[in-house]
Amino acid sequence: MSTLELFWPEKRSYLKLWSWTTETDTDYVAHIIKSIANGGRDHSLRVLTARIGAHKTDMTIPKSNRDEKTLPAIVKMAQTPEQIATLEREAAMYRVLKKVQGRAVPKIYGHFRGRVDGKEIQCLLMQYGKPPFMGDRDYIGRYNMDAIYAIHASGIVHGDLLDERHMIESRNTIMVVDLSTATTHRCMHGQKVMGRDGVCRIAKCPEVAALEEKYGSYYDLWISAGGGHGLLSPCFENARSPTVEMTLLW
Ligand SMILES: [Zn+2]
Repeated sequence: MSTLELFWPEKRSYLKLWSWTTETDTDYVAHIIKSIANGGRDHSLRVLTARIGAHKTDMTIPKSNRDEKTLPAIVKMAQTPEQIATLEREAAMYRVLKKVQGRAVPKIYGHFRGRVDGKEIQCLLMQYGKPPFMGDRDYIGRYNMDAIYAIHASGIVHGDLLDERHMIESRNTIMVVDLSTATTHRCMHGQKVMGRDGVCRIAKCPEVAALEEKYGSYYDLWISAGGGHGLLSPCFENARSPTVEMTLLW
């Protein structure tokens, strides 16, 4: 079991939450800095920045929210039943992406639960990132596609990546955030598939194809992310008079 102590210095308020799903028994302390998204009555979540530390680790415990020796982090809070459903769904998507956390998506420190005035409250404590500098398209595109290929090869479609709203920069890499619209899928991008008409086609995943159009196609990154596993499929070799066409398959 892991715990999270949240401090709001300006409001002099304090909240302790628990996580039973975290593999570690780390006890985190977070001092809230400010709200960067207010959330609404609908599914949108409240997003806060914080300074964090943890007991019995090498992470320094913050003395205040201005303690720059400590790690910056993001706290996503859910209070209404709709927001809690959104957060639980998002946490599940981050679990699917566990192997690429810290590279393609932020590292998740924990998914915590507690009660305020008898009502359930949940939060996701995650790695901090800032909106990416989008000046050099070629340079940024490669990092963007690295993250996008990694999440698709891991079996996730983001669903809302056509602008840069859900991309952040952290430690000189670009990561994808906000998985509330994400769904699982088996990515067929780059695979050769034989149609009923005997024509061999190269499948294109709509989200990957649209982003390759925008940022460029990086075959080596896609292969290193584990994508294109069907590229050597015998489909092409077995076809008598192979006609390769591009098609969109979901
Ligand atoms: Zn895909």
